[in-house]
Amino acid sequence: MNLRSISTIIPLAIAILLGFSLSVCAQEQQEELEWHPDLTNDWTPVEDSVSTGAYGEPPSDAIVLFDGTDLSEWTAAPGYFPDIPGVPDYLDAIRQDHGEAPWKVEDGAMHVVPGTGNIMTKQEFGDVHLHIEWRTPEEIDGDGQGRGNSGVFLMGLYEIQVLDSWQNPTYSNGQAGAIYKQKAPMVNASKAPGEWQTYDIFFERPHFDEDGSVIKPAYITVLHNGVLIHHREKLQGPTVYIGLSEYVPHPRKMPIGLQDHGDYVSFRNIWVREL
Ligand code: MG
Repeated sequence: MNLRSISTIIPLAIAILLGFSLSVCAQEQQEELEWHPDLTNDWTPVEDSVSTGAYGEPPSDAIVLFDGTDLSEWTAAPGYFPDIPGVPDYLDAIRQDHGEAPWKVEDGAMHVVPGTGNIMTKQEFGDVHLHIEWRTPEEIDGDGQGRGNSGVFLMGLYEIQVLDSWQNPTYSNGQAGAIYKQKAPMVNASKAPGEWQTYDIFFERPHFDEDGSVIKPAYITVLHNGVLIHHREKLQGPTVYIGLSEYVPHPRKMPIGLQDHGDYVSFRNIWVREL
């Protein structure tokens, strides 16, 4: 074998070896991609189990805020929801003793006593699933915003509107289920006046850094009578009545409020699960 044939054979041998090793690698890769169904099974036990009843009944791990018997989980609330300009003072104010919730309990429901003021939970909450049932009067009295108006205030600042929106035109971001003055519900899932209605509200609180800047805004998902009306909607800030909203830093947990808007609205079966 002369020098010339050696110089031809060596590169050829190298090329063959390289090709062989590349094909082995490809085969190994192929084997890695051959997943077995069991490889993605997660056997870590779910430690907590809850018992559940019919739709709307509190699961066994829920914090029951009203079971139809008394207002022991509630207190009178100061002033008006949401009291934005004075939030820091407001926070001090809401933590003082404001006395018993002034609404009436009858027939397994709590009823707004118009003119007595808002109420709020004694416990404070951040991220929650809140279930609440509400009813506006069967007999129609008033129109627009003056017909069965109340509201559910997450953290006392973020309102999902309660209103008799059965054939009752008003501004759409103020109708039942609206994130008040920020976002209309996707559909009007209202029942007729006098019928009980449900909200399931999934609320993610806003997060602030130490200098009060918003790291993460609040998000809200709402089912009205089981129908999705907000899907992780971003809140612009507290739901103010006048003007554009802007976040004001506040604690991680605050009370849930219910509004006395001067109308005879009733509530029952209120519970939360902290998220
Ligand atoms: Mg309202």
